[in-house]
Amino acid sequence: MIRIGVLGLQGAFREHIRSVEASGAEGIIIKRVEQLNDIDGLIIPGGESTTMRRLIDKYEFLEPLRQFGKQGKPIFGTCAGMILLASEIAGFDHHHLGLMDIKVERNAFGRQRESFEADLDIKGVAEAYNAVFIRAPYILETGAGVDVLASYNDRIVLAQQGQYLACAFHPELTDDHRLTAHFVTMVEESKKTLAS
Ligand code: GLN
Repeated sequence: MIRIGVLGLQGAFREHIRSVEASGAEGIIIKRVEQLNDIDGLIIPGGESTTMRRLIDKYEFLEPLRQFGKQGKPIFGTCAGMILLASEIAGFDHHHLGLMDIKVERNAFGRQRESFEADLDIKGVAEAYNAVFIRAPYILETGAGVDVLASYNDRIVLAQQGQYLACAFHPELTDDHRLTAHFVTMVEESKKTLAS
């Protein structure tokens, strides 16, 4: 069975476990670096990126997370997790993991739109996908190898680059598991490739 970890330092990690299990994989909450050896793919949840970064440093996760991605293992960053994956954050002079070639802006939909829902068409994955946005970032720019999978009001809110997937919304908060199922498929495929 495919085993998917959810980084459990801060944020909405329990809901992701439910969504992973509804998508036919085993979900494991990751609280210690050694646990990264036991999983085939990782979800970095929403929450607060600055708080999560502080905890990543405190528990010495930064390099092990980078190595996890560089081995070719899939990582799905959702909301704050997308900010953690990005190579550039507007208005900041440093990134966190810097694994994905995207420039993001934090809290980018403005105060009047703290949280909202929207129906998205996700290229190759789902139509009328019910997306929940909470103090959401969006993607301002993408590098050459990045495939844009969904936009909302001309803002990029979902993109993929090889084994990396990043979305601005919270796929774990509804019963629509189609995007998590897409990530599970990515992990299945990478597991076959990495084994051969
Ligand atoms: N605004 C948060 C941040 O900058 C992200 C919000 C979320 O993950 N729901 O980290």
